Amino acid sequence: MTANSPASPAPSGPPQQRTFGPPVIAAQNVQKHFGSFHALRGVNLTVRQGEVVVIIGPSGSGKSTFIRTINALDPHDGGSITVDDIPLNGQGNLDAIRREVGMVFQSFNLFPHLTVLENITLAPMRVRRASRADAERKGLELLRRVGIEEQAHKYPAQLSGGQQQRVAIARALAMEPKIMLFDEPTSALDPEMIKEVLDVMKELARSGMTMLVVTHEMGFAREVADRILFFDQGNIVEDTTPEEFYQNPKHERAQQFLSKIL
Ligand code: ADP
Ligand code: MG
Repeated sequence: MTANSPASPAPSGPPQQRTFGPPVIAAQNVQKHFGSFHALRGVNLTVRQGEVVVIIGPSGSGKSTFIRTINALDPHDGGSITVDDIPLNGQGNLDAIRREVGMVFQSFNLFPHLTVLENITLAPMRVRRASRADAERKGLELLRRVGIEEQAHKYPAQLSGGQQQRVAIARALAMEPKIMLFDEPTSALDPEMIKEVLDVMKELARSGMTMLVVTHEMGFAREVADRILFFDQGNIVEDTTPEEFYQNPKHERAQQFLSKIL
């Protein structure tokens, strides 16, 4: 017998359970109107720290409107939303909320006249009062994390769509958000660039980030989501696990939707 016998194999057992922290998003009976159009009709949702929630549903069902209410890009006009114990009710809390919640859109929305690194350091320096040196060090670290450190001094137009979206993710992370919202982050990308963005999002999910992701990328949803929400006509009509959703969707609209995309 040697003292250094090989490590025993990992004990077999049930797959590792993901555990979550306290609720970080609490939406109750959320309403939103655009003129006479009732876009959100009483949405209820609790998301716990560390959860990855994928939102799917037909076009026009209110997915974007809902996630925009969560960082107050669009104010809701009924019900209540609390983000990390901060109630979202009027102007006073907007800055606090936007520091807590990062958002990535379909269109990358980078500042075209700033370099990649400047895009990332702008908000930490202005909003968080970080020094340039600290913001740049952190920015380069984030660019490394999303795999494009070598693009730091280029301008957005010199990058591919997939690279620009990874910059947008790094820019949101630079504010050290507690929650990341994604609204169809790969919908504007050529197929060969979708994977590189989804891989960054998978890594983020595994790192424990709380994420709300509107996407039709079913492979991503199956692999990464802890929960799937199906939106229809301004409300969540299904809130379940990926396994349950794909094998046995209960709502007729969800069944129709799945039959078209799978
Ligand atoms: P989804 O993201 O699920 O495709 P949206 O949340 O973008 O849907 O839109 C939900 C509904 O609200 C749609 O019917 C859309 O036309 C309407 N809507 C969204 N934004 C506005 C707006 N700024 N003004 C008027 N109607 C809007
Ligand atoms: Mg949308």
